[in-house]
Amino acid sequence: MADANLKITCPDCNSEIPQIEGMVVGDILECSECGTEVEIQSLEPLTYRELIEEK
Ligand SMILES: [Zn+2]
Repeated sequence: MADANLKITCPDCNSEIPQIEGMVVGDILECSECGTEVEIQSLEPLTYRELIEEK
């Protein structure tokens, strides 16, 4: 069971990024504040990294 206390925090602006239901490794979540994307790397424990978008 996923730990509801674990939070994903935007590495750029520190806003909390809500987890999605049924989240799996490799999912991409986007910060609603600044648009930074993070990729889920592991669920237990929850780890993620910022995706650097080339423009
Ligand atoms: Zn952000």
